[in-house]
Amino acid sequence: MIATAVPRSRVSTVGPERDYISHSAITTYQQCPLRYRFRYVDGRSEEFVAANLIFGGAIHAALEFHFTELLQGNEPPTLDLLLDAFQAEWRARSVEAADIRFGRDENHNSLSTLADRMLSAFRASPAAAPDETLIGIEEELRGELLPGLPDLLARIDLLTTNSDALVITDFKTARSRWSQGQAETSATQLLLYSELARRLLPDRNVTLRFLVLTKTKTPAVESFNVDVSRPLARRTVNTVKHTWRAIRAGHFYPAPSPMHCPACPFRSACRAWTGD
Ligand code: SF4
Repeated sequence: MIATAVPRSRVSTVGPERDYISHSAITTYQQCPLRYRFRYVDGRSEEFVAANLIFGGAIHAALEFHFTELLQGNEPPTLDLLLDAFQAEWRARSVEAADIRFGRDENHNSLSTLADRMLSAFRASPAAAPDETLIGIEEELRGELLPGLPDLLARIDLLTTNSDALVITDFKTARSRWSQGQAETSATQLLLYSELARRLLPDRNVTLRFLVLTKTKTPAVESFNVDVSRPLARRTVNTVKHTWRAIRAGHFYPAPSPMHCPACPFRSACRAWTGD
């Protein structure tokens, strides 16, 4: 564990005067300002939860369990134990969700079978036995990106070190295999986290990495390192600054899109919203 970790209970999660920003909140605003308002300002309950979100969280929990066992000096967990961790997280998230929306031809059994294939592929991959020193799993860092901005709260999936750098790894589940270009265009979150790590640990180089597990018939498990260029990191931080200004100014309006509206958990509230 590193000294900058903060307990979750100290952090407010909703309301117009949040005392921190998160990458997911900033992204939500950029995708649809009204959706941000429903979730983070009004604190509305979601009308439904997409099964793929629960699935991704449950796979994530299984990976977290795997690396926690390694961090504690234990043997890698068996596949059965990883699947137990998956099912426990699925149950916990299902109890919280009012309505779970499955995709076409999907149900809990089919997703459990998919989890079996994905976690088997993970256990057989080099990623399951990293030749780096494990420092933290689900590590929370909190700190200032720019004066005038609330602290950024970062939750890092896996933190390791090698001879060159501190390595920040983010777990992803994906419908298909990623390319290096896709990793680089998806790196906003990691770039912000690297900026935070650089401020907190200025004497360390930082490497950013995605660990991507695909939901394909034969799952692939691949790692992608992403370059951290200073101009790109600066642009990313400044984008957050401008987004935060818009939030503070109360600019909330719908931004309908075929990509985001079908899975939006506030569709009824959105239809009822008149903008008055
Ligand atoms: S339904 Fe679409 S436009 Fe309405 S809040 Fe959701 S994402 Fe925004």
